[in-house]
Amino acid sequence: MAGSKKILALCGGVGGAKLALGLSHILDSDELTIVVNTGDDFDHLGLRICPDIDTVTYTLAGIVNPDTGWGRAEETGSFMASLSMLGGEDWFYLGDKDLALHVERTRRLGAGGSLSQVTTGIARALGVGPRILPMSDDPVATMVETTSGTLAFQHYFVRERCEPPVSGFYFDGIDSARAHPDLLALLADQTLDAVIICPSNPFVSIDPILSLPGVRQALSDCAAPVIAVSPIVGGKAVKGPTAKMMAELGLAPTSVEVLKRYQDIVDGFVLDQRDIDDLEQLKTMVTYVDVTDTLMLTLEHKIALARAILDFSVSCQ
Ligand code: GDP
Repeated sequence: MAGSKKILALCGGVGGAKLALGLSHILDSDELTIVVNTGDDFDHLGLRICPDIDTVTYTLAGIVNPDTGWGRAEETGSFMASLSMLGGEDWFYLGDKDLALHVERTRRLGAGGSLSQVTTGIARALGVGPRILPMSDDPVATMVETTSGTLAFQHYFVRERCEPPVSGFYFDGIDSARAHPDLLALLADQTLDAVIICPSNPFVSIDPILSLPGVRQALSDCAAPVIAVSPIVGGKAVKGPTAKMMAELGLAPTSVEVLKRYQDIVDGFVLDQRDIDDLEQLKTMVTYVDVTDTLMLTLEHKIALARAILDFSVSCQ
């Protein structure tokens, strides 16, 4: 690509990481910053666990488990098996290699490092080029309101396997959390080329980032085009509970409903070609709409989609 670019991607875990990987293949490392949701982070077995940061880190390091899209490839489970034998809390799977990351992160945080410093250090050790930036160095915890009561995010997502019907979400600590200063600085940077809202879960991956004080306003004031990519493909989520959550909240599982959540901040929207029926309505909601294949099954798909989005962002100026 001619000339140096400055691209900011906002993302959650598996869906966001796929596009981030595509972007990392066509941008130089210093051209891409990936701001990651930390609302899923939690303390477990004495360790600080940051699932979305780890998914993005492992994906960009080329060591993610290709079958799940999270955790490490060629993982072993001795720790979990031994923990189960002891009657320990085994509902959250921690592979042996993955465990080392949580231990090391917890140690570095305990020694006084901020989450962003620790994340940078670990990403560097694993050979990741682009900057992976937690949305905040302050703790924020996504809480899921369900018909069986309010659940901490991982209790809902992993322990209860997303089964309880959801009625809402809130983000504990969000009012006093500060968006990472480098996120706000990038949004105010007149040389920023584009902000890409990755195809991540709008409720529990993107909304925590947008709910940090000042972020929504900064996105709406941002000089660069803000582009959202639909996580809905063919009226369904590719993976995870996005469509199930929408149905339980009384929303149709469509790109239109996704865009409604971002309408005040985006200039452009990327629709999957399988959802072409939504195009006319989307055009009444946002200035620019691009229709393409957003299903990222292979690395080539990820790169092609990343390229299409960057090209589209140029036409959104
Ligand atoms: P999580 O935090 O691990 O659940 O991951 P994300 O929130 O980043 O991603 C979940 C969302 O990614 C779901 O809504 C999926 O529909 C979406 N997703 C996953 N893979 C793809 C893909 O290949 N294309 C598109 N358009 N969306 C995807």
